[in-house]
Amino acid sequence: MVGKRQYRHPGPGAIEFASTYTNGLTRKAAHSIVVSLLKDELPDQDDKRVKRCDFCGYPYRDTTRPNNSKTCSKECKTERDTLKRRQKQADKRLLQPRKKTKREQYYVSWLEYPFWLNEYEMLKQSWKRENPYENDKVERIKAAQLRTDRLNGKKKPKITTPYNSKDGEKQQKVRVKFETDKQAREPGEVIAYHLSAEEMRSYYEEKYSEWERYLVRLRALEQKKFSRSKKGIRG
Ligand SMILES: [Zn+2]
Repeated sequence: MVGKRQYRHPGPGAIEFASTYTNGLTRKAAHSIVVSLLKDELPDQDDKRVKRCDFCGYPYRDTTRPNNSKTCSKECKTERDTLKRRQKQADKRLLQPRKKTKREQYYVSWLEYPFWLNEYEMLKQSWKRENPYENDKVERIKAAQLRTDRLNGKKKPKITTPYNSKDGEKQQKVRVKFETDKQAREPGEVIAYHLSAEEMRSYYEEKYSEWERYLVRLRALEQKKFSRSKKGIRG
């Protein structure tokens, strides 16, 4: 056997083998037996079935029929295979290191002010992580954050402006909706029409029925009455 041997935590097979010699003995007596066991000084050392475990390093008795096991137990076999696989992978990594990405190659990211070593790669790579917004978009995001903070995280309330309101009369609701940046576009051209009284009359006659015109007229008179009476109170 080899002089320097590496021992690991003994596997179940090795423990079972040792216990066949030390069962029922005191700790002291068992100790000397285990020492001689490790020195291969046992009476049945010529037994072809007594071997050293490939993983834990302790002697064990091979119970497989063809007598071809290398480890004392299933556990030791798993551990040994894992270790072998890891060593193989480590060797592979050492011999064939992973190719560096362009970012790793050209981006000095570990400094306080990171920079690129190559402008072409910077333009090609950085947009993926550092996609800049336009200025007004940044402002809109900032404003939305401020608004959320002021409302304590509540949803933006609907803004309802009273329009043409009178006490007791049903209010016409005007909802003011701010356009999102997607909808925002140039305002339309303002077109002014100059109509004579005659033209205006024919226009309204064409557009509204007689009944509708009557109602509007009535309402206008009401308004007039209202404002006059208000003036009267003040004056
Ligand atoms: Zn073992």
